[in-house]
Amino acid sequence: MADNHLVIRHPTCSAPKINQAITAYCFGRATESERKAVEAHLLECDVCWQEVQRLEVAIQALRAERGLLRSISASEIATAFGISAKLASPWAGHLWHALASCALYALLYTVAFVAEIAYQFDRYGSAALKIAPLVFGWIFGTSMAGLAIDCKLTRQGSERGLLFSVLVFLLAAVALFVGLCLFLPASPITQATVQAQTAQVAYLKTTCYWLTLAVVFWLTPFHFVVAMQRELHRAASSRPEVADGRQAECDAERHDFSQTLGAFVTPGGSGHCRPLLTL
Ligand SMILES: [Zn+2]
Repeated sequence: MADNHLVIRHPTCSAPKINQAITAYCFGRATESERKAVEAHLLECDVCWQEVQRLEVAIQALRAERGLLRSISASEIATAFGISAKLASPWAGHLWHALASCALYALLYTVAFVAEIAYQFDRYGSAALKIAPLVFGWIFGTSMAGLAIDCKLTRQGSERGLLFSVLVFLLAAVALFVGLCLFLPASPITQATVQAQTAQVAYLKTTCYWLTLAVVFWLTPFHFVVAMQRELHRAASSRPEVADGRQAECDAERHDFSQTLGAFVTPGGSGHCRPLLTL
């Protein structure tokens, strides 16, 4: 019974702290005291000794074959993230994001519209509640269209996706404002101690705020993500053409290398090693 721990499948090191310094040691980045501790420990610990040997093989392979690093293509990195493959999907694979963000954006306009006449709700309330769903539907629909246009143009390689989506948002807001001016009174509704603006001007002001926020914090990041997806997708599909036999050789080499990385560069406490080398 006492010897049971000797037959476990994955023996562990009795000095985890020193074990964690092994990666730094192998890459020549250990401090003097770490180096001494590791070297003294290696004399007595088989686990760490084996890790050092495995790491050394991987490091030698990297030093001897720099080309192996280059053989990890952008498409493989893209595949790891899994976003470029969805470029052709509706809204470039961000359908739920588009639905949720457009609904929230439309809700802003709708709530503000009702809030503008809140002080005279008994007078304007019933009509406002009938118009509110139209406000929501208009902003929601045009926003979804704006994002879709950005996706479509960016997917086709155009650099104007963001410009057109911003235009769609701008025109939708202007059209909404013009339409609502037929309903919103041109007199102050909100009761304030200072001179209140008319309901129309107040709504125009809030529209300008949201439009600005949407362009800076929503449309631009969205466009950036879709453009990145396109670039990754392009990189994946524009791998240099080589003869079939050579391509198979390259693929086999790449496969071997990723297995090499997986097998060698994963000692305990050095999980950072693999992403580091992949980059
Ligand atoms: Zn050890």
